[in-house]
Amino acid sequence: MEKETAKQRVEALKKELNQYNYEYHVLDKPSVSDYEYDVKMKELKDLEEEYPDLVTPDSPSQRVGGEPLDAFQKVQHNIPMLSLGNAFNEQDLRDFDRRVREGTDEKEISYVCELKIDGLAISLRYIDGIFERGATRGDGRTGEDITRNLKTVRSIPLRISEEQTIEVRGEAFMPVKSFRALNEAKEAESKDVFANPRNAAAGSLRQLDPKIAAQRNLDIFVYSVGEWEAGAIASHSERLAYLKQLGFKVNPETKTCENIDEVIEYIQYWTEHRPELSYEIDGIVIKVDQIAVQEELGFTAKSPRWAIAYKFPAEEAITTLREIELSVGRTGAVTPTAILDPVQLAGTTVQRASLHNEDLIREKDIRIGDTVVIKKAGDIIPEVVRVDVKRRSGHEEPFHMPTHCPECGSELVRLEEEVALRCINPNCPAHLREGLIHFVSRNAMNIDGLGEKVIKQLFEHDLVQTIADLYKLEREELLKLERMGERSVSNLLDAIETSRENSLERLLFGLGIRYVGSKAAQTLAEQFKHMDHLMHADLEDLIAIQDIGEKVADSIVRYFEKPQVKSLIQELKGLGLNMEYKGLTAEDIDTESPFSGKTVVLTGKLEQYSRSDAKKQIAALGGKVTTSVSKNTDILVAGEDAGSKYDKAQELGVTIWDEQQMIDALSE
Ligand code: NAD
Repeated sequence: MEKETAKQRVEALKKELNQYNYEYHVLDKPSVSDYEYDVKMKELKDLEEEYPDLVTPDSPSQRVGGEPLDAFQKVQHNIPMLSLGNAFNEQDLRDFDRRVREGTDEKEISYVCELKIDGLAISLRYIDGIFERGATRGDGRTGEDITRNLKTVRSIPLRISEEQTIEVRGEAFMPVKSFRALNEAKEAESKDVFANPRNAAAGSLRQLDPKIAAQRNLDIFVYSVGEWEAGAIASHSERLAYLKQLGFKVNPETKTCENIDEVIEYIQYWTEHRPELSYEIDGIVIKVDQIAVQEELGFTAKSPRWAIAYKFPAEEAITTLREIELSVGRTGAVTPTAILDPVQLAGTTVQRASLHNEDLIREKDIRIGDTVVIKKAGDIIPEVVRVDVKRRSGHEEPFHMPTHCPECGSELVRLEEEVALRCINPNCPAHLREGLIHFVSRNAMNIDGLGEKVIKQLFEHDLVQTIADLYKLEREELLKLERMGERSVSNLLDAIETSRENSLERLLFGLGIRYVGSKAAQTLAEQFKHMDHLMHADLEDLIAIQDIGEKVADSIVRYFEKPQVKSLIQELKGLGLNMEYKGLTAEDIDTESPFSGKTVVLTGKLEQYSRSDAKKQIAALGGKVTTSVSKNTDILVAGEDAGSKYDKAQELGVTIWDEQQMIDALSE
C-alpha cells in the first residue's frame, strides 16, 4: 500500500476503533461484534508495523480500555492494569512460546492456563485484611471507584483470612443464567438488551445505585496480585493457591502446563467443553508461571510479554460478496443466495450465505461487491449479518430481483402477505425438479438411491418430468446415466418398486401440497383413509378435523381442484401406487386395546362404517377380522339384518356387539 493511502486508512481505522472503544468500554453498548473489532485492530496494527511513524499515542493500538466515567471517583492504579496480547491459532501460540524462550535464559518454562472469563477486570484493595476499595480497570492507569457496588457481590470477601495489605485483581462476571434472565426482563419491558455478559456485568457494576448491582447476581474469579507488600511467592500458580487460602474465589479449572503442546491440549479441551460452564468464556489466558521470568520479559505499552490471550474462533467472518445467485424452490419461491469469497467460519470454509428475500437485501442495503459480515445462523446455514459500508469503493452494485423466473422465464408474482417472489408456472422445470427431490425424500416416499444429483441427471436426460415418470423408468435408460452401474440401477428400481406400497400419508406428504407437512399428512391419512375420500372432501370436512386449520384446508381443496393434479393421481393409481392408509405398524399397536389379540367377525349392515374401514381400524388396534364364526371367534359385530352368523354366534356363546358398541370400543 502507498504511504499516503496507508495514512488515510490508519486515520479512518483509528477514528472507527476509538468510537467502538467508547461504545464498548464507556457505554457498555457495542455496535459491532468483538470479531469485527479484532479484525480492524489487527489491520491497524499491521499498518502501524509497516509504517511505524504513523503510530501516535492516541492510537487505539497503544491504549487500554476506555475513559473512566465522571460519575465515579477516580482511582489511580499504581501498577497499571493492562490488556493482553491476542493469539488466534496454534501458530500464534507457538510464536508466543518462541518469544518467551528467546527473552530468557531460563530453560524450564511452564505455563499456567486459565479460562478467559468474559467479564471485566476489577481491582480489590484490602488494608490489614479488610476490603477497602474496589475499582474498574478504566484506561489501565485510572479506573472508577465502584466499592459500593462490589460490596454487593457475595463472592468478594469483606475480610480475608490474614491481616494482609494487598491489592488483588480478578474478573467480575455475570453467569449465563442471570444474563439471560436479565435480558428477558429487559425485553419484556421493551428496554435495550445487553449485547453479552461482559457488557451486562460492566453495566451493572457502573450503576450509581448499589441496589441494582445487588440484584444482578454478579460473581468474581480472582486471578492475580497487584500491589503487595509481602510478595515473596515465586510462581503464579503458588500465588493463586495463596489467594485461595486468603478466601478469594479462584477458578477451579486453572492448570499448569509443562510445555506449549500441553497448553494446546488444554485449549482444545475447553473449545469443546466450553458450553458446559455456567459462565461465558471467550478464550484461554496463558501466563508464564515463574515470576522471575515474568519480570525478565516485562511489558509492552499495552500488555505483558509473559502472557497471551488465546481467543476462540469467531462465529463470524468478514468477506466479499461477489454475486447474488437465484434459485427456484419446489413451491416456486425464488430465493437469493450470496456467493462469497471463501472464508473460514467456525471451522468450515464458507462460500455461500442465505439472503432470504428481496426485502432483507433492501433492508440491509446489500450490494454486489460489498464487504460483508457473515455468521452461522443456528450454527448451520451462514447468513449475511451486515454490510461494512465504510469499506465501499463506490463501485458496488445494488441488486434488483428479476421480474421473470430465472429457470422458465415466466413472470414472477408476489402473493398476498408474502415477502417471497414466486414462479407460479406449474411446469417450470425448477419446480418439478425440486418437487421430485422432495417426493423421494426420507419422510416422503423414502426412495433410496435417488439423491439430488441423480434427479438432476434424470431431468437433463429428459427421463422424467413428473413424479409419475419415476414409476416408468427403464433399466436400460438408467444404465446410461453417469456413475450408475448394474447394481445401483437394480437397487434403485427395487426402491421405487417398494415405494408403490407406501401408506397414504407418505404419498400425501410427497405430493408437496402447500402447508401439508408430514404431521398434517399423517392426520389426513388417518381421517380419510383413502386418497379418493380426501380428494372429495370440502373445506368444511377438512376444517372439522383437529389440527387442520383454515389455511391448510383451503390449500388442500385448491390443490385437488387442479385438473393436472386429478390426472396425476389417476396416473399414479394406474401405475399401481397404493392410495390407502395402511394404519399403524405392529410396534404401534396398543396392547391395552379391547381388540388386541381378538378374532372379530363383522356381519349385517353397518351404518357408520364401511366394512373395510372397520376392518382396518380393528386391525390397527391389534384385532384380527375373519369372515366365518367359529369357536375361535371372540366378538361378533352385528349390524342390521344380521343372519346366520348371528345365530351361530349365539349358539357358540360368542360375545355379540352392536355397531355402537364397536364404535365405542374403537374410540376407547
Ligand atoms: P482482552 O479482553 O482481549 O483481554 C484482557 C482482559 O481479559 C483482562 O483485562 C481481563 O479483563 C480479562 N481476563 C479474563 N480472564 C482473565 C484471566 N484469567 N487472566 C487475565 N485476564 C483475564 O482485552 P481488553 O483490553 O479487555 O479488551 C479488548 C477486547 O475487547 C477486544 O479484543 C475486543 O474483543 C473487545 N472489544 C470489543 C469492542 C466492540 O466494539 N465490540 C470494542 C472494544 C473492545
